[in-house]
Amino acid sequence: LLEDQPDDPETLRERPPVVTVMGHVDHGKTSLLDAIRRTNVTATEAGGITQHIGAYQVKIKDRKITFLDTPGHEAFTAMRARGAQVTDIAILVVAADDGVMPQTVEAINHAKAAGVPIVVAINKIDRPDANPERVKQQLSEYGLIPEEWGGDTIMVPVSAVKKEGINELLEMTLLTADMMELKANPDRPARGVVIEAKLDKGRGPVATVLVQKGTLKVGDNLVAGAVYGRVRALFDDKGERVKSAEPSMPVEVLGLSDLPQAGDIFQVVEDEKLARQIAALRQEEHRQEEFKAAAKTSLDDLFKQMEAGEVKELNLVVKGDVQGSVEALRAALEQLSTNEVKVSIIHGGVGAITESDVMLAAASKAIIIGFNVRPDANARRAAEEAGVEIRLYRVIYEVIDEVKAAMTGLLEPEKREVILGRAEVRATFKVPKVGTVAGCFVTEGKIQNRALARVIRDGVVVFEGRIESLKRFKDDVREVAQGYECGVGLEKFNDIKVGDIIEAYAIEEVKREL
Ligand code: GDP
Repeated sequence: LLEDQPDDPETLRERPPVVTVMGHVDHGKTSLLDAIRRTNVTATEAGGITQHIGAYQVKIKDRKITFLDTPGHEAFTAMRARGAQVTDIAILVVAADDGVMPQTVEAINHAKAAGVPIVVAINKIDRPDANPERVKQQLSEYGLIPEEWGGDTIMVPVSAVKKEGINELLEMTLLTADMMELKANPDRPARGVVIEAKLDKGRGPVATVLVQKGTLKVGDNLVAGAVYGRVRALFDDKGERVKSAEPSMPVEVLGLSDLPQAGDIFQVVEDEKLARQIAALRQEEHRQEEFKAAAKTSLDDLFKQMEAGEVKELNLVVKGDVQGSVEALRAALEQLSTNEVKVSIIHGGVGAITESDVMLAAASKAIIIGFNVRPDANARRAAEEAGVEIRLYRVIYEVIDEVKAAMTGLLEPEKREVILGRAEVRATFKVPKVGTVAGCFVTEGKIQNRALARVIRDGVVVFEGRIESLKRFKDDVREVAQGYECGVGLEKFNDIKVGDIIEAYAIEEVKREL
């Protein structure tokens, strides 16, 4: 799907390097990014400097460098985990007084894992206790040997606060870029990565993207992850409207249908219909991934899902007449937790249900369980106002039964794959403008137009997608049953071969019970 075509070497032109700043907390990443941004602004611009997007460009000796404005290796690696390699060069900031610290080592490892060259900025050299030689010594232990010691790592002493050494650092970054011969073809439909995205009240979804290849223009149709759109306007890192963005340039894009995710690849496509179709297909993929994630059962997975907000919680405040009954209820109720719905007793106690219990329940969206106790007048009024549910019981098993029922209401319907049918490919035809159509024989069940489908070749799935056209002789049909022949066209798949099996299926939702 939207595979990237390699460019003819003849078409490649030099592009600016894209740089990420990494290093230990408090070693000066933010200060350095700030100092770099200011090297470039004229006095008149200085007031508007706070206006910036997730990346910016600076000019040095008439060449540009792009800086990603989210310091730290976590963001860098999160993007990489999504398949987006955006950074060409890492600037590793090490405070000259503090030296190499745990996150310095992490940053080195993250950059190395990504195969990204490191330029070291030895920061805070203005400090009286600065010791750049010790930093070099420490870095050598991690394989970063300074040039003057015969290694190949450039190390530049800087002071982000005093703005010293910044130009030299930028020049050294360009020198590193020169050795990498960073190039891209500017004359092709643009492709790149989403750096960040936010919903703007007036302007709708706004994505900051980094163009990696081609030139992005106003009016282009693009797909970004599971989102499509037509570029309505582009703004550069200074908030100024531009008509286009060339390789390595960060821009804000207006006109997307929804918010893409940081790290999503974007690509310009010829027409909006295609953009829309691809986005829809990706959404389906995302749904299937979520479906798989929900099927996990182990405790570790439960914790991970809870952190990711995928598990629902039933919060309860339990009040009882004696400590014994409160404890018994707590144990029995907590045991009801499943890996999708967690029962949490956020508060348990002896005595009447009070206004403070209601406030707590309201803040945590909890239900109050009263066992042989009653709410006092204030609590009753507060519960009505806040819409907090109070349930009163005299028998433990009734509590259990009702909580179970409440939990079932929180359950997502289960998604299940149902095979509709299978067909064997017996011939293939190239149809102009349509692509390759498979002449099939339905061996099992039925084949339905628009159904989800996969192609199986020698027991291996070679395609997942949808049936785009279904014909009996010359007629379009909705479905074809077992024992009949038909012509099947698959969405965006033209590599069908005789002997392939087409498996049509549906995703069915089933209501579940505990
Ligand atoms: P980050 O956590 O790596 O982004 O670090 P910051 O940029 O927030 O800097 C942490 C602290 O170090 C701040 O108090 C800065 O003012 C200070 N700092 C940063 N760079 C320098 C420098 O070059 N010299 C001195 N003396 N202090 C600095």
